[in-house]
Amino acid sequence: MSDTRELKQQLIDACLQLQAMGYLVGTYGNASARVPGGLIVTPSRIDYDAITPDDMVIVSDSGQVIEGHRPPSSETSVHRLILRARPDIQVVFHTHSLYATALSCLGESIPVIVEEQSQVIGAEIRCTNYVPAGQHLALGEEVARTIGDSNGALLRNHGVVACGRSIAEAVFASQVVERVAQMYLMCRAVGQPIPIPPEYVTSERERWLYRYGTEADKAISS
Ligand SMILES: [Zn+2]
Repeated sequence: MSDTRELKQQLIDACLQLQAMGYLVGTYGNASARVPGGLIVTPSRIDYDAITPDDMVIVSDSGQVIEGHRPPSSETSVHRLILRARPDIQVVFHTHSLYATALSCLGESIPVIVEEQSQVIGAEIRCTNYVPAGQHLALGEEVARTIGDSNGALLRNHGVVACGRSIAEAVFASQVVERVAQMYLMCRAVGQPIPIPPEYVTSERERWLYRYGTEADKAISS
């Protein structure tokens, strides 16, 4: 049990960071990290500043609680099904950050409009269809289907998911989704933003994932 304790604490710390940024309000939102055979997920309905590692729950790949005395987040299926669909991802945050949630109410996807999106998110930030509150498995299936190869998605009339290879990367992805949503709304207020051409989205993502700051990268930029 204790070998996951540090990871649980890191996930709690990241939630507090996202709460301080205004991305998590009340007990809304949740977080997860992959562990062998399943995932660590935040518990249901406890204030973030009251959660301890003992309150965190471990759920199996098939959705059964395998460790913890609290009920897991009601939106555990969102995390479980994204992690199942995306073996390249280790950490998922679901937030209700302001601009991205506002944009989710339009039911539109955000095209790739800035380099931080092509690099950190890697694709469009697609928007799910509406899933009524309480239909947690349906929401998980819809989000896992919609996110595709992207590191961010909008949940229509609800919020955001962002993910990454580490806690730090998933926090960063959450910030980038929110910034991109804000920029997209600014652009749309005065015109229609011009997306980055798809071939550059691919090359910029690849560079950020595998070559940023390496010798290979120097060769490209020189
Ligand atoms: Zn939510």
